[in-house]
Amino acid sequence: MTRHLISTVATDHRCDRCHAPIIAALDDGIPARVDATPLRDRQAEIAALLDGKWTYVLTLNRHLIHRDASRITANTLTGTIHAEHKCTGPAQLTFDDLMNGAQ
Ligand SMILES: [Zn+2]
Repeated sequence: MTRHLISTVATDHRCDRCHAPIIAALDDGIPARVDATPLRDRQAEIAALLDGKWTYVLTLNRHLIHRDASRITANTLTGTIHAEHKCTGPAQLTFDDLMNGAQ
C-alpha cells in the first residue's frame, strides 16, 4: 500500500472559538492552522518557537509547509512565515475540530 500524504491549498478561515483570522491547510496530511498575520521577522519566529508553537511557510502557491529545524536553518522556501494558531478560546481543540478547520 502506498501512503498518500495530502497537502491542500491554504484557505482563509476564522477560528471557530476565538474568531481570529487564520489560514488552514493540510501539510503532508497533517492539519495546519496558523495565524493569518505573518511573523514580521526572525526574532518573532524565535519567540513563537520558544512559546512552543510550530511555524510554517505560506508558499507563493499557497501551501503551508512546516518549518522544522533543517528548513529554518536552510531558509530556502519563499513565502511569509506564520505561527501555529494557539487558540485562547474556552474549549479544548479536538482532532476532529482540526480536521474540520482544514477543509
Ligand atoms: Zn482560536
